[in-house]
Amino acid sequence: MGFFKKVASFLSATPTDMETLGLYVRCDKCGEALRTHIHLRHDLSPIYDEGGQGVTYFVRKTLVGSKRCFQPIEVELTFDANRKVIAREITGGQFITEEEYEAEA
Ligand SMILES: [Zn+2]
Repeated sequence: MGFFKKVASFLSATPTDMETLGLYVRCDKCGEALRTHIHLRHDLSPIYDEGGQGVTYFVRKTLVGSKRCFQPIEVELTFDANRKVIAREITGGQFITEEEYEAEA
């Protein structure tokens, strides 16, 4: 019993910061701040270069506000081989910081 409890708490203590990337955006149309998470292990699609040497990752997310309007905000992120963001694009909104998001939540 105690053993399983320990395992469970160990699993839940896995550092999620390594696994997910918080994404914070503001809707261009109504100004609503939105948040989503990218799962770095599951959401990324690998893109291999022509020589098969390097790899980058790509993910596309669509966020839709719920409070004032339903405009889709499309986000595209490109990651390097270490899953660090190297390029990002957004349509229908703007990127904001976690602090800006929290200030409004
Ligand atoms: Zn909106």
